[in-house]
Amino acid sequence: MLLRHTPGEISERGALTVNPAKTCQPVGAMYAALGVHRCLPHSHGSQGCCAYHRSALTRHYAEPIMASTSSFTEGASVFGGQSNLLESINNIFTLYNPDIIAVNTTCLSEVIGDDLTQIIGRAAADNKIPKGKTVMFASTPSFKGSHVTGYANMLAAIVQSFAKNTGRKTDRITLLPSFIEPSDMSEIKHIVSAMGIAYIMYPDTSDVVNGPLDGTFRMYPKGGTPRALIEESGDSRCAFALGRVGTLSAAKLLDTRCKVKTEILDLPIGITATDEFVDCLRKTAGVSVPESLLLERGQFVDVLCDKNQYLYGKKVSLSGDPDILLGLARFCSDAGMKVLHVVTGTPAPGKFADRIREITGGDTLVKVGPQADLFYFHQLLQNNRPDLIFGNTYCKYIARDMDIPLIRTGFPIYDRVGHSYFPITGYRGGLHLLVKILDAIMDRQDRDAPEEKFELVM
Ligand code: SF4
Repeated sequence: MLLRHTPGEISERGALTVNPAKTCQPVGAMYAALGVHRCLPHSHGSQGCCAYHRSALTRHYAEPIMASTSSFTEGASVFGGQSNLLESINNIFTLYNPDIIAVNTTCLSEVIGDDLTQIIGRAAADNKIPKGKTVMFASTPSFKGSHVTGYANMLAAIVQSFAKNTGRKTDRITLLPSFIEPSDMSEIKHIVSAMGIAYIMYPDTSDVVNGPLDGTFRMYPKGGTPRALIEESGDSRCAFALGRVGTLSAAKLLDTRCKVKTEILDLPIGITATDEFVDCLRKTAGVSVPESLLLERGQFVDVLCDKNQYLYGKKVSLSGDPDILLGLARFCSDAGMKVLHVVTGTPAPGKFADRIREITGGDTLVKVGPQADLFYFHQLLQNNRPDLIFGNTYCKYIARDMDIPLIRTGFPIYDRVGHSYFPITGYRGGLHLLVKILDAIMDRQDRDAPEEKFELVM
């Protein structure tokens, strides 16, 4: 196997990335756009780009992902993509009738320098945008950032395009989640609903990319946040952004444009982060935590305590996206595990590394940026071997080479199902993640146990 040749000796390399721990911006932008009801993502670039973005999402969610493309050929690459986009807008509204087209740029259209504000203005002037419909865009150049940056850029563009402050404050709070699974979006809604709090959440990809198979094809599934609610979010009494990197720009915009006081929290992964989220909701809305949530919390804590001997002191290495990694670091630290490494290809603020070390107790090796690739992650693991790896499907090669169990988390996961349906956020998600970890540890213990120590009860 090729990865068996990864050397343990680490040398400096400034201009080479091998097996990046990230994917490209438009993938995240499309995912965010899918969380708006009757919104069609549109990739302004070549067909090849759009095919890749769609296939990445389709493979991860095991659902057909709808998106259109400006279909650049040689002509557009030289003269710009204006005529392609104008024709696309016309065709999309005629054939597919979305309420919103969410355009994301690509490397090619960014390098050409297409002016999307001008092109969309031209489409409106030429009456190519039907009354009541909208074309919006986010700049998503993939030669910088990652899928999380693209998600953040599209989320900010959604706020910019729709959120309105009418001056009449409502009782609702707004929730802006980072790039998380539809199952996690459902779990966050479950917590807020259980507390009896009125809310608006966007994007919301639950019931869009994890919908049921009922024999009916829907170009626009039932889920996704309606445009009217996004507009009303500008009148919310306050907002919580969950996960800093995926939401910061949108949170700032909602705060400055609409005067909605927005607080940024960690994703509620693990007991302490979920407690913090619930406590913020409780104080903001002036409500009590309901028995149903206390029960979920108690069950999670019960298993955490019952099986602590399998978790305490276990060494783990994490790779993936910053907001999820921060949550996982909190989860692992809560459980008494020792976080050796945290690696992400997504740019994250300098405070990210400090925050991780603050959570884990100081000596975690944190690497961020283009050189923080899976090749480097593999090298780190060879020099300081963990008991468990957390990461996406691409980590399976490292896990196989080093014979270390892999807990699949983050994006993309191409080789297992369940992540779209079973959360890792909240108390129920925490219990689900805990069970996955314990299964991996106990399976390994059973596999390696000598005959006389092969126990029936663990
Ligand atoms: S990295 Fe750039 S060229 Fe490649 S698929 Fe993404 S947008 Fe297209």
